[in-house]
Amino acid sequence: MANNTHDPMNAVDTPTPRRKPKPEVTEIGGRKMKPATLMMGHGYDPALSENSIKVPIFLTSTFVFENAAAGRRHFEEQTGMREGPKDGLVYSRFNGPNQEILEDRLAIWDGAEDALCFSSGMSAISVLILAACNSGDVIVHSGPLYAASEGFIAKVMARYGVTYIPFPAGASPEELDEVMKAAKAKAEEQGGEVPLIYLESPGNPTNALVDIQAVKEARDAHFDPARCPIAIDNTFLGPLWQRPLEHGADLVVYSLTKYVGGHSDLVAGGITGGKKWIDAIRAMRNTMGGIADPNTAWMLLRSLETVELRMQRASENAEKVCAFLKGHPKVEGLGYLGMIEDARQQDIYDRHCLGAGSTFSLFIKGGEPESYRFLDALKVAKLAVSLGGTETLASHPFSMTHISVPDERKKMLGITDNLVRVSIGIEDPDDLIADFDQALAAV
Ligand SMILES: *Cc1c(COP(=O)(O)O)cnc(C)c1O
Repeated sequence: MANNTHDPMNAVDTPTPRRKPKPEVTEIGGRKMKPATLMMGHGYDPALSENSIKVPIFLTSTFVFENAAAGRRHFEEQTGMREGPKDGLVYSRFNGPNQEILEDRLAIWDGAEDALCFSSGMSAISVLILAACNSGDVIVHSGPLYAASEGFIAKVMARYGVTYIPFPAGASPEELDEVMKAAKAKAEEQGGEVPLIYLESPGNPTNALVDIQAVKEARDAHFDPARCPIAIDNTFLGPLWQRPLEHGADLVVYSLTKYVGGHSDLVAGGITGGKKWIDAIRAMRNTMGGIADPNTAWMLLRSLETVELRMQRASENAEKVCAFLKGHPKVEGLGYLGMIEDARQQDIYDRHCLGAGSTFSLFIKGGEPESYRFLDALKVAKLAVSLGGTETLASHPFSMTHISVPDERKKMLGITDNLVRVSIGIEDPDDLIADFDQALAAV
């Protein structure tokens, strides 16, 4: 980095610009630039890296301090002893240039103050939960959750004296009020607090939506909002089609493996939200590790340049494919957010969602044998778990992702043996329709 050489005139403790000087230009023609524009350069100054237009990958475990006083300042920043921007790089378990630029750009999509990146969605979720909870606490969460998230709360946190109260995704304001009351009573009984309300919306694989606004109102009525953040897993619709911070959430969690990464070639996670919450989670990440590696962070910077294009195209494709599937004689139904049949769910969708996304459930007439024949006949779509990639994927949650969920609970969550989960990609929509057409003919 050409102008980062040691300057003896600057040997006292004055921060040198390491990244793009702030405030950088984020307005043009009197209007704020949109995220799609900012993804090409925000947080990065080519002049600091030999004028390379793209951010180089910084493969290093540690960073050289300009002088001893700067080393002390950087540690004060990292440990929260010093207020203000964290402008010092210290050690790669804490931060790095690729990760910090990625975090700046992730925050933009959600309109958040700050963001963190992780080595997986699950490391983001587990570090968040560990940062929030003390022994005796009660987590309130929506259901269904991603199976590993549910397991982490129910099995791992239980070992540390943390319990939970779940509520169904579509719960009404009255039901939410009851849930908060019950959680408060349980926490008092256990000598703890309710330190986290954890949501996932839409839920996997049924696409059931949570009323974030109603959860916020119930939270505000029963708990101190400054001690009980609402976090939401926004992997299925974010960052384009749902902006939870605008509806009352405090923290937004992502598996960046899915739509944000978008090419089925990396595993990563992210959290965005208010600085106060993010700082507490950062402290836990500093201790545990789990930050994304520089190469993955770089790949995500590449992915963020096209996330809007990809999600728009995938969403248009899904709309066309679902229009074809809707009346098909071998299709029993669809769990697609563009074709909601329940009035309460439609109301939540209208208030919270900007688009239907491209992951949905397809109910085949019949059961497991019919679903398997359909999956085995697909030629363009690939038979694989995960979602949000450029290619269309299909899987059978009943016997794959949710195989370990007890049958009773599967039934309650609507995970039937004729449910095929589909994640539509960015292929030509007519090719996708032709593929689904011939695969349904094989059923
Ligand atoms: C995939 C996924 C996760 C876990 O993310 P990983 O990157 O696989 O660790 C969490 N939540 C949802 C909704 C997911 O789809």
